[in-house]
Amino acid sequence: MGIVVQKYGGSSLADADAIKRVARRIVEVKKSGHDVVVAVSAMGDTTDDLYDLANGVSPLPPAREMDMLLTAGERISMALVAMAISDLGYTARSFTGSQAGVITDSVHGKAKIIDITPGRITQAIGEGHIVIVAGFQGVSADTKEITTLGRGGTDTTAVALAAALEADVCEIYTDVDGVFTADPRIVPSARKLDKVSYEEMLELAACGAKILHLRCVEYGRRYGIPIHVRSSFSQLEGTWVVNDPRAHPSLSGPTEEDTMEQPIIAGVAHDRSEAKITVVGVPDKVGEAARIFEALADAQINLDMIVQNVSAAATSLTDISFTLPRTDGQVAMTALARIQAEVGYDKLLYDDKIGKVSLIGAGMRSHPGITSKFFAALASAGVNIGMISTSEIRISVVVDENAVDDAVRATHTAFDLDADEVEAVVYGGTGR
Ligand code: ADP
Ligand code: ASP
Ligand code: MG
Repeated sequence: MGIVVQKYGGSSLADADAIKRVARRIVEVKKSGHDVVVAVSAMGDTTDDLYDLANGVSPLPPAREMDMLLTAGERISMALVAMAISDLGYTARSFTGSQAGVITDSVHGKAKIIDITPGRITQAIGEGHIVIVAGFQGVSADTKEITTLGRGGTDTTAVALAAALEADVCEIYTDVDGVFTADPRIVPSARKLDKVSYEEMLELAACGAKILHLRCVEYGRRYGIPIHVRSSFSQLEGTWVVNDPRAHPSLSGPTEEDTMEQPIIAGVAHDRSEAKITVVGVPDKVGEAARIFEALADAQINLDMIVQNVSAAATSLTDISFTLPRTDGQVAMTALARIQAEVGYDKLLYDDKIGKVSLIGAGMRSHPGITSKFFAALASAGVNIGMISTSEIRISVVVDENAVDDAVRATHTAFDLDADEVEAVVYGGTGR
C-alpha cells in the first residue's frame, strides 16, 4: 500500500469538533493499510485574524516578522490534529515546514518551494507514525529564515510533499464537493466537474478560483500527481485534476460522455484581490516601458494584465495601465514614484475597486464566437468592461468590483453551465 497525502483547509479545522472529525478520517486511511502524510492549514479564519492583529500594531509590518506570525496558525493546527489522533489510539508526529524539509527561496510572503528533503517524514513513517505537516511554510535555503508561500499555500505544500514522497494521489479536503463551474457561493446552480485538466485548472486558479493554489496545480502537472479535490464534510467523490481527463486509471473506463467532445467551457472564475495602477503621460519613446516594468520586477511584483494606449499624436504621451495583487499596491506605487523624474511621466492613479471575471475552457481554442457571447452576456447584465486580456483558453475582463457577482452569474447562464437541480453545497467556511 502506498503513501496517501491529504490536505485539510482551514474551514475543515474550524474548531475542536472539526479537528476530531478530521482525525477520524485520517485514522480510517491508516487503518486501511496506507501510510498517511497530512498537510494542515490554520484553523478557520486564523490567518486573516493574524493579519488584522499585525495591521493593528503596525501599518506596514516587516515581512520577516509577518511570516513568523502567520506560520504560528498552521503550527496550532498541526499539534491539535496530532493530539486528536493520539486520542484515537494512533500515534502522530507533527512537524513545522522547516522540520519537514520544505526548502524555499527567500522571498517573504510568497516564497517558492525549491526542494523538499523529507528525511524526518520518512523516518517517522518508518516508525509507524501518521505525519502531520504545517502547511504554507518553509525555510529559506539562503537566509535560513522562516518563509510563507502566499495565501492558500497549504495546497502547494501538500502536492509538493506528494511529489517528494512519490505518493499515488494528493487529496485536497475543503468545504465544497470539488471544483465547480463557478464559485458556489456566488452561483448556487454551479455544476461539479468530475474531472478537469491541469491546463484548465491552472487558468482557473490563476484567475482567482481559490479552490486550489496556483502553484499546487503547477507542481501537480510537473510531477504528474493526480489531485483529488473533495469535501471533508461528505463522502462524495470530488473532482480529479489530471493530465488527460479522459484517461485517468482510477476512474472506471471511458464512459459515453468521455468519447464525446469535451465541453467548450470549463468554468467562470472571479478575482477581487487585484488593483489597477495607471501611469499617466509616459513619453512615447523606446525603453520607457522597459524602465517601468524593471522597477516593478525589482520590487518582486507579479503583474497580471497590461494595457498601453496609443499615444496622442499631439503630445506623444501615452498611458500604461496594469493590474497587480492589491497587497503589492503600496510597494508598487513607491517603486514607481522613485523613477518619476527619470521616466518623466505625469502622475500615477491607483484603483482597488476592481474585480476580474474570466471565462476558461480548452475547447474555446477551436470555437469562434465565444468572445462575442461573453461580452453580450456582460452587456445584458449592465456590466461595463474596463480592460480585456486573452489567452488561447481564457478571456478575462476587469469590471467594477460591485459588478462581479452579476457578471459571473450572467456569464454562467449564457454558456449553459447552470445545473438543472442545485447540487452545490457549501458546508462551511466564511468565504473570507
Ligand atoms: P480551504 O480553507 O479548504 O483551503 P478555500 O476557502 O481556500 O478553502 O477554498 C474553497 C472555496 O473556494 C470554496 O468554499 C468556494 O467558495 C471557493 N471557490 C472559488 N471558485 C470555486 C470553484 N470554481 N469551485 C469550487 N469552489 C470555488
Ligand atoms: N492559512 C493560510 C491562508 O489562509 C494558508 C492556507 O490556508 O492554505 O492563506
Ligand atoms: Mg485554500
